[in-house]
Amino acid sequence: MNLNDPTLLRTDSYVNGAWTAAPGDRRFAVTNPATGETVAEVADLGAAETTAAIDAAVPAQKAWAARTAKDRAMVMRKWYELIMANAEDLAVILTTEMGKPITEARGEIAYGASFIDWFAEEARRICGDVMESPIPDKRFLTFKQPVGVFGAITPWNFPIAMITRKVAPGIAAGCACVLKPAEQTPLSALALAELAERAGIPAGVINIVTGMDGPAIGKTLCDDDRIRKMTFTGSTEVGRILMRQSAGTLKKMSLELGGNAPLIVFDDADIDTAIAGTMASKYRNAGQTCVCANRIFVQDGIYDEFARRLTEATAAMKVGNGMEDGVEQGPIIDGQGLNKIERHVADARAKGAEVLTGGGRHALGGTYFEPTVLTGMTPEMEMFREETFGPVAGLFRFSTDDEAVAMANDTEFGLAAYIFTNNTSRLFRVSEALEYGMVSANTGIFSSEVGPFGGVKSSGLGREGSKYGIDEFLEIKFVCVGL
Ligand code: ADP
Repeated sequence: MNLNDPTLLRTDSYVNGAWTAAPGDRRFAVTNPATGETVAEVADLGAAETTAAIDAAVPAQKAWAARTAKDRAMVMRKWYELIMANAEDLAVILTTEMGKPITEARGEIAYGASFIDWFAEEARRICGDVMESPIPDKRFLTFKQPVGVFGAITPWNFPIAMITRKVAPGIAAGCACVLKPAEQTPLSALALAELAERAGIPAGVINIVTGMDGPAIGKTLCDDDRIRKMTFTGSTEVGRILMRQSAGTLKKMSLELGGNAPLIVFDDADIDTAIAGTMASKYRNAGQTCVCANRIFVQDGIYDEFARRLTEATAAMKVGNGMEDGVEQGPIIDGQGLNKIERHVADARAKGAEVLTGGGRHALGGTYFEPTVLTGMTPEMEMFREETFGPVAGLFRFSTDDEAVAMANDTEFGLAAYIFTNNTSRLFRVSEALEYGMVSANTGIFSSEVGPFGGVKSSGLGREGSKYGIDEFLEIKFVCVGL
């Protein structure tokens, strides 16, 4: 890996401000999905080391919370600036361990850093209330206080941004954390910790526990009553496990889980906008985001033209190693991800879908998959129920608004939905009727530090980013003062 600053490449965990190897120097390999090569051997910590990280976080949190919000904000701002100054190296690390095109990795660094900048500002706007008392000789007020130490578990598809979206509001509020990054992408997390240390974030405030045994680390965090909150991004299945495991110690929970995003194109949509938006939503990160369009509903009158144009744009995509210039789609993260995509395509074809382009593994081999368009999709197919997490655009035909909304809502998930229409009243009616946490209208990209990100139903609990994100890390204390 060619870095301007090779010291950003850390391979030990970061616990209590110290780079920490596992007992017996146990390690696991990090693989570049574009080449299959081993990039690094990273410390493989387990349950006992997770408890040691919690031991460190508890006193560190108290000292951090005792500092002024302005002081915390200044340290965070320094962290933000260091990330931006090292953005190119961070992007190279990210693409090497995860596979997304370098242009997308650069975008993720800026997007990920924006949460630190934003929440550094929000730290200074944490406000309690003074309320009109209903009793003449009493006064009512509230304090907002940090929840304490939180546990965080993050996925591989946004190795930087899913960390900053949790850690930034948490430390802004005065919390400390023990974070386990995905085993596929620990290097980005460790590089962030290196920069946090350089920025002056004190030892023990951010602890990064790398390890292969997610279930053991997760259970240790959930069982420990000193961890007052869990925040997780990943599969609905693991989210349920964490919630169940946290019942014993009744933790606050934030869960950002799976999606099954509908993207609805109405006859009156601007076709150029709809195609550009669908391409951006569907193929970002090779379809491996929880807000990627998973079911594309197209109205009768525009269906054939939309299918033809989407096929043209899809067939023109450049697939390859994300480090190469002009590549728009990298490899799939691993064999398991690839198998699921193949299974969904095979199931759709067996049930009558037609392949307009792509449809199988890419000639590049490894875990590369062809950008694919399928038509004639129906609700009986697996892709209708389950997130494909790959570069497959499946088109469903519909006639009326009610039919589109009913199909879109016919899922246990409720994260992001997209609509394309030039009719304003339809835009409002459909946006209101969609049972989703986020609706993106006439654009395929909506995520920002300023808008609240999160889902309903089996897509999770809580909101990240925005003015609401910090509340997830604060408790409201009511104080009643007798005069
Ligand atoms: P993905 O499909 O994105 O890998 P997962 O939900 O399996 O989704 O993984 C997201 C994160 O959860 C990763 O950091 C992974 O190591 C972790 N993880 C997986 N299983 C468990 C578990 N039982 N308890 C806690 N964390 C887990």
